[in-house]
Amino acid sequence: MAQPLRLVIFGRQGAGKGTQCIRLIERYGVVHISTGDMLRAEVAADTELGRRAAEIMASGGLVDDETILGVAKSRISQDDVKAHGFVLDGFPRTIDQAAGLIAALGDHALDAVIDLDVPLGEVTKRMKLRARADDTDEAIAKRLALYEEQTQPVLQFFADRGLLVRVDGLGTEEQVTERLYGAVDAQIEAGAKANSGGCE
Ligand code: AMP
Repeated sequence: MAQPLRLVIFGRQGAGKGTQCIRLIERYGVVHISTGDMLRAEVAADTELGRRAAEIMASGGLVDDETILGVAKSRISQDDVKAHGFVLDGFPRTIDQAAGLIAALGDHALDAVIDLDVPLGEVTKRMKLRARADDTDEAIAKRLALYEEQTQPVLQFFADRGLLVRVDGLGTEEQVTERLYGAVDAQIEAGAKANSGGCE
């Protein structure tokens, strides 16, 4: 059987990452690993980690790198993920997290890193329309600002390693999914060729 795929998806809050993640799972059979979902489960269960993370999350800040790396690495090492591969969603968000991920998995472990790109002005408009009780304007603004500051450099980190595929996130869900599948398939094919010696 072919190696299970290891994917990462990036996108600003409001870019439609949740929907497109589901599409990736449907097509590639990978396990969804969302550090945000994992943290929300810790908050709901009122664990020690949940109590530490709750306030940071509500304000739109970032949980510290060491804690998040621990959470992500323990999930990645579980059997279902080993068997089926993964799509990482919301992680890594900083250069230190990305470096920690690569150190844990090895240099050639990832198949594709997707940038679901919706410009800042457009997601800001979308978020204003989608007011949620648990999300304040300040938290959204802080999350978007931290994305530019901390997470955009992570995209460059993966681009430097030849892994980044940019997908235009504007348009209907179906249009974006088509682009996403095309871009991921092309990257997988390019990676397979590189691994077989780069010959046609
Ligand atoms: P998300 O659902 O991915 O937007 O995550 C919700 C919140 O959880 C974020 O706003 C952060 O406070 C926290 N969080 C999730 N993933 C990370 C991460 N990789 N690094 C730091 N904080 C995170």
